[in-house]
Amino acid sequence: MVKAIVGANWGDEGKGKITDMLAETSDIIVRFQGGANAGHTIVNNYGKFALHTLPSGVFYDHTTSIIGNGVALNIPVLFNEIKSITDKGVPAPKILVSDRAQIVMPYHVLFDEYEEERLGKASFGSTKSGIAPFYSDKYAKIGFQVQELFDEEYLMKKLERVCETKNVLLEHLYHKPKLVPAELFETLMEYRKMVEPYVCDVSLYLWNAVKEGKNILLEGQLGSLKDPDHGIYPMVTSSSTLAAYGAIGAGLPPYEIKQVITVVKAYSSAVGAGAFVSEIFGDEADELRRRGGDGGEYGATTGRPRRMGWFDCVATKYGCRIQGTTDVAFTVLDVLGYLDKIPVCVGYEIDGKVTTDFPTTHLLEKAKPVLEVLDGWNCDIRGIRKYEELPENCRKYIEFVEGQIGFPITMVSNGPKREDIIYR
Ligand code: GDP
Repeated sequence: MVKAIVGANWGDEGKGKITDMLAETSDIIVRFQGGANAGHTIVNNYGKFALHTLPSGVFYDHTTSIIGNGVALNIPVLFNEIKSITDKGVPAPKILVSDRAQIVMPYHVLFDEYEEERLGKASFGSTKSGIAPFYSDKYAKIGFQVQELFDEEYLMKKLERVCETKNVLLEHLYHKPKLVPAELFETLMEYRKMVEPYVCDVSLYLWNAVKEGKNILLEGQLGSLKDPDHGIYPMVTSSSTLAAYGAIGAGLPPYEIKQVITVVKAYSSAVGAGAFVSEIFGDEADELRRRGGDGGEYGATTGRPRRMGWFDCVATKYGCRIQGTTDVAFTVLDVLGYLDKIPVCVGYEIDGKVTTDFPTTHLLEKAKPVLEVLDGWNCDIRGIRKYEELPENCRKYIEFVEGQIGFPITMVSNGPKREDIIYR
């Protein structure tokens, strides 16, 4: 059975924790999109880890971790990540990398930096991991698949061809040093050594795994609102963050995805630029940021402070719908225990009209939040394992959100650890 774990919002909803938890009963965990630009934070017996490329199942010895063809594969990052976890005493994980995954080239990272620098104030707030230049090249058909590393003659010719156009931009648009194909070739030979032990025909592997009845998790990165089609374009990421893309980015039949677990955080946070209707500022935001997540709401990749906001029912209802949600995992609820009153965004006012349907970007810029204020529960709910044992106001908060978004909350996460979970 194949399950997808995805985010409903701007990312950082706690997908890593839910994946790590569900990995216990899974055989295979697949990353199907995105790259080392975002990260999952996982806390377990071995310590606290920020994973950027590896799926969140690498801490079990019964699972196989897969980098699907849809991922932007940064080979040295992958290599160092494997090393960082084995250095901390985690047994060497079983890893497979799709032979069709494409490689983040050193110049993708450079172009990402140069372009953000050129845009100045109008920049996207990119993490400068090379993701946008990577996916641009993939769709411009000048990307490099892992399997191409094994044909040296072909590789060298292609590098020469690609560098020709890149160098025009480097010289005349960015005024930066030009690329040297022979140097890139040497780097790619290093990459080949690093990745060789893991290369696999992943879609065939998964096809057979499905036939054998294996449990497979597809792990998404970021969330619905960062999807290039359905998100807040252009302030989005460059690969689809939707469960549907899980089929493509892993190489599985779409009808095999039987469950879509959409992770929803009990309040909002976002990184990067773009409209964020329920955003809060000042001391109110600082306090939520400081108390948020596990050790504060700061980017897992960049360490930058996340933008904070109240729970947004409009964005989340939409985010869940576009994912094709079967189950909602409602996370980080424990953090709200300090509040007497908890505002929730239940509508957007746009040009004097209130809507609960998430609009396209140019209207979103004009939206003002319509807030409803719920009573807080004013206590620590960590350690509670049964739904009925949650304080009444806490249950009311969950049920209010569930009613507004229209998708069943079947899991409530009340702490960062695997066991901090309440099934409903
Ligand atoms: P992801 O990218 O969606 O996996 O999310 P992140 O890993 O960036 O952010 C989630 C953060 O919240 C991490 O630091 C987790 O350890 C933490 N976390 C996850 N679930 C919970 C929870 O229920 N309560 C608390 N307090 N922290 C949580």
